[in-house]
Amino acid sequence: MSATSRDAVTTYDAVVVGGGLAGLAAVHRLAHAGLHVALVEKRARLGGSSALSGGWFALSGTELQRRSGVTDSGAVFLDDMVRTGEGYADVSLLRTLVERQEHAITAIGRADAWTDELKVSAGMSVARAHLVHIGRILGTLRAEAVDAGATIRRGCAAEELLTDGARVVGVRCGAVELGADAGVILASGGFSRSRELLDLFVPAQAAAMPYGGVGNTGDGLHMAGMLGAGLADIGQVSGTYGQHPDATDDEHELLTANYLGAILVNARGERFADESASYKQLGAAVLAQPGRMAFQIFDATVRARSRPGVPLSDMERITELGHLVSAPSLEALEATLGLPEGSLRATVARYNGAVAAGTGDDFSRTGLVNGVGALEPITAAPFFAYAAVTAMTSTYGGLRVGVDGGVQRIDGSRIQGLYAAGEVVGGFHGASYMTGTALTKALVFGVEAADAIARS
Ligand SMILES: Cc1cc2nc3c(=O)[nH]c(=O)nc-3n(C[C@H](O)[C@H](O)[C@H](O)COP(=O)(O)OP(=O)(O)OC[C@H]3O[C@@H](n4cnc5c(N)ncnc54)[C@H](O)[C@@H]3O)c2cc1C
Repeated sequence: MSATSRDAVTTYDAVVVGGGLAGLAAVHRLAHAGLHVALVEKRARLGGSSALSGGWFALSGTELQRRSGVTDSGAVFLDDMVRTGEGYADVSLLRTLVERQEHAITAIGRADAWTDELKVSAGMSVARAHLVHIGRILGTLRAEAVDAGATIRRGCAAEELLTDGARVVGVRCGAVELGADAGVILASGGFSRSRELLDLFVPAQAAAMPYGGVGNTGDGLHMAGMLGAGLADIGQVSGTYGQHPDATDDEHELLTANYLGAILVNARGERFADESASYKQLGAAVLAQPGRMAFQIFDATVRARSRPGVPLSDMERITELGHLVSAPSLEALEATLGLPEGSLRATVARYNGAVAAGTGDDFSRTGLVNGVGALEPITAAPFFAYAAVTAMTSTYGGLRVGVDGGVQRIDGSRIQGLYAAGEVVGGFHGASYMTGTALTKALVFGVEAADAIARS
């Protein structure tokens, strides 16, 4: 071991760094495999971005899809992810995600966390986004892991990976060293809270509103980087469009009324993108607009599609927070928002004309979301506007891994004893992101990395 003598170390079979979904899934699996395992979490509370998330999981072949008459399969799920990643994602990782999604389905069922909410969202050709009670999953994994003998140490930030020269054999958290005979799993989340890493890897995105778990400062990338770890997808990181600029750290205010029929206009009252595109692509487009913001503009028909309590579609909560603007006419809305006179009316008239003609519009929008769902004109008063910015909720580039979560060096060789799972990992999303794949991947690969350690 590179630090002090082994006598000063508490030794486990395995140590997991980070107490979000990936880390809790891993520690749960390891404890149930009979391993002596510890999880370290740098914050006083477990959960990270997972606890803050919308709770959408991308899954195929579920009971809910069958009951809802949705035809889907692993092959279609895989195809959709490959297309969304525009050829940049690692297909072997995506295939493993699809083949092992049962890990997620089982955990959701065990936690009694299913809801009946199922929808088409970014990157999907069919309804595949399943809303689950994420808090119940996190709580169940934690409680069952502790019951099975796992140690959970909060307020314990891993700072360094310990090696014996050839392999990783533990972590150091301040003055405390934890030995890990069979391996360490990094599940420390992304770097959405590190201005330094955003500036380094994706400077064009650094102006996005910092968001995600407050502890997500890229520590796993730093620690593994010291051992020569390679990276994947790092330049593809993109913020998510749809957050109110006054959202707090404790409650996100993501709304995608555009997937229900809204259009997006900038501060000049002009459209600038196909609103059915992934909210990651829209995030990049909005950063290039004046004031780096865009209004979601819609009418009473779209307002009636609000789903109270359903993240991304809940306009009631946004109204309660005082962040939804309404007006009896487009003219009045334009004036309230301070848009140039006539701009919003002209933009909506042009959009409505294209929808009525069915010939495709200026930005080739053909559907509500990802090309799916019929477009309707914006005509029914009152009219609404939601001002939103691009938030850096998550960073989907990260460590290069194999299908068992084993971390690879820049040259593709394995760093023995080191695994990673969740948002700290790259290779899954490529150019863009399908809603729900981040939570599914965190859970599935937390389990896969644990299994790899248990087998070793
Ligand atoms: C507002 C919001 C909504 C989202 N909605 C969805 C959604 O609906 N569906 C979806 O798929 N994805 C969604 N995402 C993304 C998704 O939540 C994350 O990608 C996923 O939860 C990451 O899980 P994780 O376990 O890898 O990381 P996290 O859940 O972030 O956990 C990482 C943990 O590691 C801890 N940590 C960091 N460094 C250290 C260290 N040095 N030592 C010890 N601990 C450390 C952190 O404090 C944190 O608790 C959303 C994200 C946000 C912010």
